[in-house]
Amino acid sequence: MTNNDDHKKTKGRCLCGQVKFEIHGELRDVVNCHCSKCRKFHGNYGAYTSVKVENLKITEQKSLKWYESSTDETANVRRGFCSECGSSLFWHPKDRPTIAIAAGSLDSPTNLKTRGHIWCSQLPGFYQIEDDLPQFDERWSV
Ligand SMILES: [Zn+2]
Ligand SMILES: [Zn+2]
Repeated sequence: MTNNDDHKKTKGRCLCGQVKFEIHGELRDVVNCHCSKCRKFHGNYGAYTSVKVENLKITEQKSLKWYESSTDETANVRRGFCSECGSSLFWHPKDRPTIAIAAGSLDSPTNLKTRGHIWCSQLPGFYQIEDDLPQFDERWSV
């Protein structure tokens, strides 16, 4: 699932540009999360790539805010967004070595592809999944 050469730098930013970041190294292909929290956060499903925490360098964070969206024993998650323009940017499970980045915040074109769907048990009904990619009721599991 490697789409970026290690030497290549990927850049991303929020809508207003007061949050900017660079990614060094590999990006995971995109997974669409249909859970209710992503729906509220993004206004639709969340389309996320994922990188190692140490490969993400936030170069501008004037208006970056973090919202603790899950703090129970199964997940200790914070979501990063721009408090100026409202862009939804990061999903960060603090106990894990990776951070998910909203694919839409990356500068285009990306070389990423969508590889599947998670939390399909929480589909809201106003859209259907039309592709043949793997679907999971909850987390990705194979
Ligand atoms: Zn912004
Ligand atoms: Zn989600």
